[in-house]
Amino acid sequence: MNPVTMNQLGLSPDRPFAVGHFNVHNHEFIRGVVEAAKAERSPAVIAIGMQSIKYMGLAPLFAAAKAMCAETGVPLAIHLDHARDEEIVRQALALGFTSVMFDGSALAFEENVRRTREVVRLAHDFGATAEGEVGIVPQNGTSVGQGDLTDPDLAAVFAGRTGVDFLAVSLGSVHGMTAPGASLNQPLLARLKGVLPCPMVLHGASGVLDSEIRQAIENGIRKVNVNTGLKVACKKALGGSIALDPEADFLADLKCGVEMVTAAVAGKMRLFGSSGKA
Ligand SMILES: [Zn+2]
Repeated sequence: MNPVTMNQLGLSPDRPFAVGHFNVHNHEFIRGVVEAAKAERSPAVIAIGMQSIKYMGLAPLFAAAKAMCAETGVPLAIHLDHARDEEIVRQALALGFTSVMFDGSALAFEENVRRTREVVRLAHDFGATAEGEVGIVPQNGTSVGQGDLTDPDLAAVFAGRTGVDFLAVSLGSVHGMTAPGASLNQPLLARLKGVLPCPMVLHGASGVLDSEIRQAIENGIRKVNVNTGLKVACKKALGGSIALDPEADFLADLKCGVEMVTAAVAGKMRLFGSSGKA
């Protein structure tokens, strides 16, 4: 089927499951996410970020994702991840992305509000959904400071003034962690749930313990972003396959990569409770 918006993935405050947002970088990753979604009967978000656009190009990545969505009967959104300028948002929406994130988290609050509000308006004009961010989810190598965590009062004002469909919040996770280790500020999450009109998004989930993710979903997280964990799984599979038989056809190695991404994504879908929800 055609890609859908994030509002068409079956999410609701009363259904305690989250949809997985899986960053894709090339054919192996897109195929892995789509095969897992089919096997698990799970909705999912195929996410395309700036690093991958630099690697493969916006239009080729989108075309591949859309073509593979069309082969499935499960609802999949195609989402632009961490856009920091409006031009790439416009290009993505014109191509047919069904969801976009504007990341103004590093901007002053008023500028974040103003620019996110414009992106929300633009996305809605295209019939797409929009995600914003308040608070800072740092990159690996940086620790989360108290001032990085999302302030509930600011988040409520931000959501009200921008009209975002989803809000990324900072609870203690860090982008780019290759193994789980971070825990989340669950009391803060519960407070955010009480004041926000929209579902919340957890970034940096590759570094978060499974038990913390389960609790976060109970406390209102409805989209969980996974990127690094899939890269690690694919790299291990490719490396292992090549080392095992360096003379074998390279396509067999790539297939191992797809299978490992599929298995990793399916495991996350079960953890997030989205299996069987499509
Ligand atoms: Zn992120």
